[in-house]
Amino acid sequence: MINILFAAKSERWDSYKDALNSALQAEALEAEVGQNFDPTEVDYIIYAPNSDLQDFAPYIRAKAVLNLWAGVEHVVHNPSLQIPLARMVERGLTEGMVEWVTGHVLRHHLGMDAQITGQTGDWVVDYPPLARDRRVGVLGLGELGLACAYALSGLRFDVAGWSRSAKQVDDIETYSGKDGLADILFRSDILVLLLPQTPETENVINERTLGQLPEGAVIINPGRGGLIDDDALLAALDNGHIGHATLDVFRTEPLPKDHPYWGHPKVTVTPHIASATRVATSCVSLAENIRRMEDGQPLIGLVDRSRAY
Ligand code: NAP
Repeated sequence: MINILFAAKSERWDSYKDALNSALQAEALEAEVGQNFDPTEVDYIIYAPNSDLQDFAPYIRAKAVLNLWAGVEHVVHNPSLQIPLARMVERGLTEGMVEWVTGHVLRHHLGMDAQITGQTGDWVVDYPPLARDRRVGVLGLGELGLACAYALSGLRFDVAGWSRSAKQVDDIETYSGKDGLADILFRSDILVLLLPQTPETENVINERTLGQLPEGAVIINPGRGGLIDDDALLAALDNGHIGHATLDVFRTEPLPKDHPYWGHPKVTVTPHIASATRVATSCVSLAENIRRMEDGQPLIGLVDRSRAY
């Protein structure tokens, strides 16, 4: 019998209980899942970083921690965590992010705001350019960034992507490493941030890198708040160099009511809803990962702790 601790807020347990048991059965795993186990008898920990569990040391038998979220910045530096950690990779989360990113890219590409907020009665004919003539840059070509890059490329946008390691991707121009950053920024009319928050990516969008974007560029950030130097972004919006910022994630969440992003005419705030782990599809991924580990296969979404993602 495999004992699986569900370490997340108790309200989550109600929605996960049945779906998780079905998914474990579908993988033919003999497992018991619950919120209360003797720590020394737990084999796997399904984990939300905002749960009460912060000390992993008593879980001496546990083989892996399976994060319920894609972002691991709140658990990866925990010194008591000495076993493998997997971030969430699941179809529903990816599909949601692709929908949110393509929607917001299309909003800016088509200039939809002019029609939505500007019903003046004047018949102004101003065709938007074709997607093929709009350059989109995606920072982060992981599970989410790559899926968004493919979707945008499928709509015929001129897409480029940037990652830590060099990659070759059909129909997408790729850049990597510190040297590749300026190159992708120079050619990004719309920039999408899908990097994890790590010591290396903190403030990757700052006064210098904002200056490398074309005049009027749009920034879309569903990644993490810490990727952006907020003061530098506000200055670039106010001096006109950056045309608009659509921001889903922030250094402090909820975004404080007096934050200058609220109500800024060139900022759209969304409340960390770009995507979310979906119960049904994430249970399939969780059960598959447990089965993989039991079979001696590598975990999907295994985190490299030295890189912090
Ligand atoms: P992932 O698969 O780990 O991909 C991360 C990507 O970032 C990889 O391509 C990686 O490069 C690249 N990267 C990391 N550090 C870098 C650096 N220093 N320089 C250049 N590239 C770097 O992560 P994911 O599943 O796509 O998720 C990305 C992030 O989205 C999460 O960490 C989370 O913060 C955010 N997220 C937000 C929401 C929301 O609702 N707003 C929901 C889910 C996730 P390599 O390919 O070379 O490793």
